[in-house]
Amino acid sequence: MMKIEAIETAYYRLPLEPMGDAGHGAIDSEEIITVKVRAGGVEGHGYAYTIGRGGRAVHALLEHDLAPLLAGRDATDIEALWQLMWQRLLYVGRGGLAAFAIAAIDIALWDLRGLRDKKPLYVLLGARAKEIRAYGSGVDLPKPLDGLLKQTEGFLARGLPGVKVKIGKADPRDDETRVAAVRKLIGDEVDLMLDANMAWSAQEALERARRLEEFNLYWYEEPTIPEDVAGHARLVRELSVPIAVGESLHSPHEFQRYVDERAAAVVQIDPVTNGGITASLRALDMANAAGLKASSHYTDELSAHLLCAAANAVYLEKHAFALDRYLEEPQRVVKGRVRPTETPGTGMRFAEGALAPYRIL
Ligand SMILES: [Mg+2]
Repeated sequence: MMKIEAIETAYYRLPLEPMGDAGHGAIDSEEIITVKVRAGGVEGHGYAYTIGRGGRAVHALLEHDLAPLLAGRDATDIEALWQLMWQRLLYVGRGGLAAFAIAAIDIALWDLRGLRDKKPLYVLLGARAKEIRAYGSGVDLPKPLDGLLKQTEGFLARGLPGVKVKIGKADPRDDETRVAAVRKLIGDEVDLMLDANMAWSAQEALERARRLEEFNLYWYEEPTIPEDVAGHARLVRELSVPIAVGESLHSPHEFQRYVDERAAAVVQIDPVTNGGITASLRALDMANAAGLKASSHYTDELSAHLLCAAANAVYLEKHAFALDRYLEEPQRVVKGRVRPTETPGTGMRFAEGALAPYRIL
């Protein structure tokens, strides 16, 4: 028994270099909502992020609904607390913003468990430490071609064995020009992923992909909206390039549909958007059982642990919103690969001094 004594939250708004994609439009800031859960004299740290919208609502759900719900309860039974939070927010939740709020607490509870047991997260997950290949990922749809190529050169200079490019320009020829130029620059040895950020109908996504398949693609990410599971299943059947989804799936139930309908080849976990480490783990269990590949979305530091629990982890995403300058110990990439941290818990700590100027609530 570790009785939850206090839950502390904060809300920050971090400026980003302006970027964007086909589904979410222009992005110029990131919101960070931090949670500290204190129990048994130990303090577990968790967080959620947004792409600049909705973060105040996530913070409000934490302050007004989840923190009072958890006060005085046993922090050690994480799965039961996840279920309790899910049930409490069911009417307004079943995913969406509620998943982000649940995630922030769930991450703190896993961190707390690691601190209590003096074990790093991957050990708590029953996994062994693995080296995982990392790919460079831009949020680069608005970048002119020379900027896109400069970014790609940066990824190559860091020794990353894969790069991802956003697609979804109004004129399909613009996507072709950009993808062709990146493929030419990186050569045949570096993997190339494409991300459409749900820009198209399934039919249009199919036609767009046909024009790009010749560039030997590693995966085709979020070709259409997450609600269209049948459309994704059709793309899996009709295209040779593997379909990747996960960042917009906000519950284990949503992953279940994709796995049951064979609507994805690569499951991309994100312990914030999926609804917590608990939820991402369930998604990985499904991927493992179905023989699917696993990768991650953003959440570089947590995902390095989680992907150790995947039977077939192909890549970790090194995301454009790198939090490095706000972390006590930024993730290290060595020869294009990452490893989970060895300190107890998640190993992820925000540098309070670096975050402080951006605190709003
Ligand atoms: Mg994506």
